[in-house]
Amino acid sequence: MVPSTGTPEGPGRMADMGKKKPPPPLPAPLPGLVDAHTHLDGCRATTPEAVRELVDRAASVGVQRVVTVACDLDQARYVVEASRWDDRVFAAVALHPTDAHQLEVDGAREELERLASDPRCVAIGETGLDWYWLGKRDGVATPEQQHASFGWHIDLAKRLGKPLMIHNREADADIIADLDRFGAPETVIFHCFSGDAAMARECVDRGYVLSFSGTVTFSNAVQLQEAARLVPDDQLLVETDAPYLTPHPHRGAPNESYCVPYTANYLADLRGIAPERLAEMTTATADRVFGEAFAKS
Ligand SMILES: [Zn+2]
Ligand SMILES: [Zn+2]
Repeated sequence: MVPSTGTPEGPGRMADMGKKKPPPPLPAPLPGLVDAHTHLDGCRATTPEAVRELVDRAASVGVQRVVTVACDLDQARYVVEASRWDDRVFAAVALHPTDAHQLEVDGAREELERLASDPRCVAIGETGLDWYWLGKRDGVATPEQQHASFGWHIDLAKRLGKPLMIHNREADADIIADLDRFGAPETVIFHCFSGDAAMARECVDRGYVLSFSGTVTFSNAVQLQEAARLVPDDQLLVETDAPYLTPHPHRGAPNESYCVPYTANYLADLRGIAPERLAEMTTATADRVFGEAFAKS
């Protein structure tokens, strides 16, 4: 299902995708991995057959389960449906901060809550704050709308006992302030963590889980790499955020769940551990945070 507004992560991220580069080759298999955050519909997997094909491709290199994430109401319906098409697919439901105003649509809260309650929905996300897009394009939710929506999603996560999956773009201090103001749920995941070592330490001290995407592999991401080194073994996840943010050296090519091993290998190297160990510990964390239905699959 094509999103009604923009792309999952806003139109600017399309610049990372490029138009001409061919898809990256299949990496060497690294068994036991999870893609903790992807957008299957953004990867053009909008039918049961296409989803199966994509997840088969991921499984062929060891990526055994994926969490496909919603950014708007249409996608929230899609991700729950897609999670029924294949046992290896799980959903996360929320409004992206840039689409936070959709919360004011008649019936939106009720529908989001119903979809988020589905046993295949393993997280409330992606929600949070995004200051990057303010003033850069039309139709972006105002700061007031974003704070209100983030607060509503925090409350939903607490009521449903599901982890909160945060999108944070240029809003470090405000995200932390909102979590304090509304009261953080038991489990908080920063998807596509993009902060420096100080922000990582702050999150780690609060018990939050940090999920790293292909951005950590970029040659200019020195601060992010420093952050990725200090996260304890049991607070680390790996994700693609596909179709965006394809890891080095394939930056600019379309991303997909099968590319997780590129980032996992990079993170393992950065932390001085074997890739197999990185796979084992990130998957143990995914099993813990995403709950019983996920862990049992
Ligand atoms: Zn995001
Ligand atoms: Zn995303």
